[in-house]
Amino acid sequence: VLAARGLRKNYVSGTQRLEVLRGVDLTVAGGESVSIRGESGSGKSTLLNLLAGLDAPDGGTLHWGGSADTGTTRRGNFLGIVFQSFYLIPEIDALNNVLMPARIRGGAGATERARAAELLRRVGLAERAKHLPAQLSGGERQRVAVARALMNAPQLILADEPTGNLDERTGDAVVQLLLSLCAETQTALVLVTHNAAHAAKTQRALFLRDGVLR
Ligand code: ATP
Ligand code: MG
Repeated sequence: VLAARGLRKNYVSGTQRLEVLRGVDLTVAGGESVSIRGESGSGKSTLLNLLAGLDAPDGGTLHWGGSADTGTTRRGNFLGIVFQSFYLIPEIDALNNVLMPARIRGGAGATERARAAELLRRVGLAERAKHLPAQLSGGERQRVAVARALMNAPQLILADEPTGNLDERTGDAVVQLLLSLCAETQTALVLVTHNAAHAAKTQRALFLRDGVLR
Protein backbone atom coordinates (compact mmCIF):
# COMPACT_ATOMS: atom_id res chain seq x y z
CA VAL A 1 0.00 0.00 0.00
CA LEU A 2 3.03 2.25 0.36
CA ALA A 3 6.30 2.44 -1.55
CA ALA A 4 8.86 5.11 -0.78
CA ARG A 5 12.15 5.16 -2.70
CA GLY A 6 15.16 7.32 -1.93
CA LEU A 7 13.23 9.94 0.03
CA ARG A 8 15.33 12.98 0.88
CA LYS A 9 14.56 15.95 3.04
CA ASN A 10 16.75 18.89 3.96
CA TYR A 11 15.98 21.79 6.25
CA VAL A 12 17.69 25.06 5.49
CA SER A 13 17.78 27.83 8.06
CA GLY A 14 20.12 30.73 7.42
CA THR A 15 23.46 29.32 6.35
CA GLN A 16 22.76 25.96 7.94
CA ARG A 17 21.65 23.04 5.86
CA LEU A 18 20.49 19.94 7.68
CA GLU A 19 20.17 16.70 5.73
CA VAL A 20 17.56 14.92 7.79
CA LEU A 21 16.56 12.15 5.35
CA ARG A 22 19.26 10.91 2.99
CA GLY A 23 17.49 8.29 0.91
CA VAL A 24 14.80 6.46 2.82
CA ASP A 25 13.37 3.29 1.27
CA LEU A 26 10.20 1.86 2.76
CA THR A 27 7.68 -0.58 1.38
CA VAL A 28 4.59 -1.47 3.38
CA ALA A 29 2.33 -4.30 2.26
CA GLY A 30 -1.45 -4.33 2.69
CA GLY A 31 -2.38 -5.07 6.30
CA GLU A 32 1.24 -5.05 7.45
CA SER A 33 2.35 -3.37 10.69
CA VAL A 34 5.73 -1.64 10.80
CA SER A 35 7.37 0.28 13.63
CA ILE A 36 9.98 3.00 13.28
CA ARG A 37 12.28 3.91 16.14
CA GLY A 38 15.19 6.31 16.24
CA GLU A 39 16.78 8.95 18.43
CA SER A 40 15.04 12.22 19.07
CA GLY A 41 15.83 14.46 16.11
CA SER A 42 16.64 11.54 13.78
CA GLY A 43 13.81 12.58 11.45
CA LYS A 44 10.93 10.25 12.30
CA SER A 45 8.26 12.95 12.27
CA THR A 46 9.81 14.46 9.15
CA LEU A 47 9.51 11.06 7.46
CA LEU A 48 5.94 10.48 8.61
CA ASN A 49 4.90 13.90 7.33
CA LEU A 50 6.34 13.01 3.92
CA LEU A 51 4.62 9.61 3.92
CA ALA A 52 1.37 11.37 4.82
CA GLY A 53 1.74 13.84 1.96
CA LEU A 54 1.69 16.70 4.46
CA ASP A 55 5.11 17.85 3.30
CA ALA A 56 6.98 17.41 0.01
CA PRO A 57 10.30 15.55 -0.24
CA ASP A 58 13.41 17.15 -1.77
CA GLY A 59 14.06 13.93 -3.64
CA GLY A 60 12.81 10.40 -4.15
CA THR A 61 9.44 8.96 -5.04
CA LEU A 62 6.33 8.06 -3.09
CA HIS A 63 3.48 5.82 -4.18
CA TRP A 64 0.31 5.03 -2.29
CA GLY A 65 -1.55 1.91 -3.31
CA GLY A 66 0.38 1.82 -6.56
CA SER A 67 -0.47 5.38 -7.52
CA ALA A 68 1.80 8.41 -7.42
CA ASP A 69 -1.20 10.67 -6.71
CA THR A 70 -0.73 11.86 -3.14
CA GLY A 71 -3.12 14.79 -3.50
CA THR A 72 -5.46 15.90 -0.73
CA THR A 73 -8.55 14.07 -1.93
CA ARG A 74 -6.74 10.81 -2.37
CA ARG A 75 -5.03 11.27 0.99
CA GLY A 76 -8.36 11.64 2.79
CA ASN A 77 -9.68 8.42 1.29
CA PHE A 78 -6.54 6.41 1.68
CA LEU A 79 -4.88 7.43 4.92
CA GLY A 80 -5.63 7.78 8.57
CA ILE A 81 -3.25 9.76 10.75
CA VAL A 82 -2.81 9.72 14.53
CA PHE A 83 -0.57 12.36 16.10
CA GLN A 84 1.08 12.60 19.49
CA SER A 85 -1.07 15.56 20.48
CA PHE A 86 -4.43 14.24 19.22
CA TYR A 87 -5.49 17.34 17.21
CA LEU A 88 -9.19 16.92 17.92
CA ILE A 89 -11.43 19.83 17.08
CA PRO A 90 -12.22 21.38 20.48
CA GLU A 91 -15.63 22.83 19.61
CA ILE A 92 -17.32 19.59 18.54
CA ASP A 93 -18.09 16.43 20.47
CA ALA A 94 -16.37 13.05 20.19
CA LEU A 95 -18.88 11.64 17.70
CA ASN A 96 -18.55 14.61 15.38
CA ASN A 97 -14.76 14.46 15.59
CA VAL A 98 -14.89 10.83 14.47
CA LEU A 99 -17.31 11.86 11.71
CA MET A 100 -15.08 14.65 10.38
CA PRO A 101 -13.20 12.60 7.73
CA ALA A 102 -16.55 11.53 6.25
CA ARG A 103 -17.76 15.13 6.30
CA ILE A 104 -14.62 16.23 4.46
CA ARG A 105 -15.15 13.44 1.97
CA GLY A 106 -18.62 14.79 1.34
CA GLY A 107 -21.08 12.67 3.29
CA ALA A 108 -22.06 12.57 6.93
CA GLY A 109 -25.53 11.06 6.74
CA ALA A 110 -27.18 8.38 8.83
CA THR A 111 -24.90 5.60 7.56
CA GLU A 112 -21.76 7.54 8.43
CA ARG A 113 -23.13 8.59 11.83
CA ALA A 114 -23.87 4.95 12.60
CA ARG A 115 -20.35 3.99 11.57
CA ALA A 116 -18.85 6.73 13.74
CA ALA A 117 -20.92 5.58 16.72
CA GLU A 118 -19.84 1.99 16.12
CA LEU A 119 -16.17 3.04 15.96
CA LEU A 120 -16.57 4.95 19.24
CA ARG A 121 -18.05 1.81 20.74
CA ARG A 122 -15.09 -0.21 19.45
CA VAL A 123 -12.63 2.09 21.20
CA GLY A 124 -14.69 1.84 24.38
CA LEU A 125 -16.19 5.30 24.31
CA ALA A 126 -19.86 4.74 23.48
CA GLU A 127 -20.85 6.65 26.62
CA ARG A 128 -18.60 9.60 25.74
CA ALA A 129 -20.03 10.36 22.28
CA LYS A 130 -21.41 13.76 23.33
CA HIS A 131 -18.36 14.85 25.32
CA LEU A 132 -16.21 17.67 24.02
CA PRO A 133 -12.46 16.89 23.80
CA ALA A 134 -11.87 19.04 26.92
CA GLN A 135 -14.23 16.75 28.81
CA LEU A 136 -12.17 13.66 27.96
CA SER A 137 -8.96 12.28 29.47
CA GLY A 138 -5.79 12.09 27.37
CA GLY A 139 -6.22 8.38 26.74
CA GLU A 140 -9.87 8.89 25.77
CA ARG A 141 -8.91 11.70 23.38
CA GLN A 142 -6.35 9.47 21.71
CA ARG A 143 -8.94 6.71 21.38
CA VAL A 144 -11.24 9.22 19.67
CA ALA A 145 -8.32 10.03 17.33
CA VAL A 146 -7.89 6.30 16.60
CA ALA A 147 -11.60 5.98 15.78
CA ARG A 148 -11.37 9.08 13.57
CA ALA A 149 -8.36 7.63 11.73
CA LEU A 150 -10.44 4.55 10.90
CA MET A 151 -13.56 6.46 9.83
CA ASN A 152 -12.96 6.39 6.07
CA ALA A 153 -11.75 2.76 6.19
CA PRO A 154 -8.22 3.74 5.14
CA GLN A 155 -5.71 1.30 3.70
CA LEU A 156 -2.94 2.75 5.85
CA ILE A 157 -2.69 4.41 9.24
CA LEU A 158 0.33 6.55 10.10
CA ALA A 159 0.84 7.11 13.82
CA ASP A 160 3.52 9.45 15.19
CA GLU A 161 4.23 8.62 18.84
CA PRO A 162 0.52 8.18 19.59
CA THR A 163 1.36 7.35 23.21
CA GLY A 164 3.82 10.19 23.76
CA ASN A 165 1.41 12.18 25.90
CA LEU A 166 -0.06 9.23 27.79
CA ASP A 167 0.95 7.35 30.92
CA GLU A 168 2.39 3.89 30.42
CA ARG A 169 -0.72 1.84 31.05
CA THR A 170 -2.95 4.07 28.96
CA GLY A 171 -0.32 4.09 26.20
CA ASP A 172 -0.11 0.31 26.19
CA ALA A 173 -3.89 0.12 25.86
CA VAL A 174 -4.00 2.60 22.98
CA VAL A 175 -1.28 0.75 21.03
CA GLN A 176 -2.96 -2.57 21.65
CA LEU A 177 -6.23 -1.12 20.39
CA LEU A 178 -4.57 0.35 17.31
CA LEU A 179 -2.83 -2.94 16.50
CA SER A 180 -5.90 -5.09 16.98
CA LEU A 181 -8.24 -2.79 15.04
CA CYS A 182 -5.74 -2.59 12.17
CA ALA A 183 -5.26 -6.36 12.15
CA GLU A 184 -8.98 -6.95 12.17
CA THR A 185 -9.71 -4.52 9.33
CA GLN A 186 -6.55 -5.44 7.34
CA THR A 187 -5.33 -1.86 7.63
CA ALA A 188 -1.57 -1.35 7.30
CA LEU A 189 0.07 0.56 10.15
CA VAL A 190 3.28 2.58 10.39
CA LEU A 191 3.92 3.28 14.06
CA VAL A 192 6.60 5.73 15.17
CA THR A 193 7.45 4.99 18.77
CA HIS A 194 10.17 5.23 21.40
CA ASN A 195 8.74 2.20 23.16
CA ALA A 196 10.59 -1.06 22.45
CA ALA A 197 7.71 -3.17 23.76
CA HIS A 198 5.28 -1.49 21.36
CA ALA A 199 7.72 -1.88 18.47
CA ALA A 200 8.06 -5.58 19.27
CA LYS A 201 4.33 -6.02 18.69
CA THR A 202 4.56 -4.93 15.06
CA GLN A 203 5.45 -7.37 12.29
CA ARG A 204 8.57 -5.43 11.28
CA ALA A 205 10.71 -3.18 13.49
CA LEU A 206 12.89 -0.58 11.71
CA PHE A 207 15.30 2.11 12.90
CA LEU A 208 15.93 5.54 11.44
CA ARG A 209 19.59 6.44 11.82
CA ASP A 210 21.91 8.76 9.86
CA GLY A 211 19.03 9.62 7.55
CA VAL A 212 18.24 6.09 6.41
CA LEU A 213 15.93 3.30 7.56
CA ARG A 214 17.41 -0.06 8.42
P1 ATP B 1 11.43 13.22 18.16
O1 ATP B 1 11.70 11.80 18.52
O2 ATP B 1 12.00 14.17 19.17
O3 ATP B 1 10.01 13.52 17.83
P2 ATP B 1 12.08 13.14 15.33
O4 ATP B 1 12.88 11.93 15.01
O5 ATP B 1 10.62 13.09 15.06
O6 ATP B 1 12.34 13.54 16.85
P3 ATP B 1 12.08 15.41 13.54
O7 ATP B 1 11.01 16.18 14.19
O8 ATP B 1 11.75 14.74 12.26
O9 ATP B 1 12.74 14.37 14.54
O10 ATP B 1 13.31 16.41 13.28
C1 ATP B 1 14.49 15.98 12.64
C2 ATP B 1 15.50 17.13 12.60
O11 ATP B 1 15.05 18.15 11.74
C3 ATP B 1 15.73 17.79 13.95
O12 ATP B 1 17.09 18.08 14.07
C4 ATP B 1 14.92 19.06 13.88
O13 ATP B 1 15.51 20.07 14.65
C5 ATP B 1 14.94 19.38 12.42
N1 ATP B 1 13.70 20.03 11.95
C6 ATP B 1 12.45 19.52 12.05
N2 ATP B 1 11.55 20.33 11.48
C7 ATP B 1 12.23 21.40 11.04
C8 ATP B 1 11.87 22.61 10.33
N3 ATP B 1 10.60 22.86 9.99
N4 ATP B 1 12.85 23.48 10.02
C9 ATP B 1 14.15 23.23 10.34
N5 ATP B 1 14.56 22.11 10.98
C10 ATP B 1 13.62 21.21 11.32
MG1 MG C 1 8.89 13.34 16.26
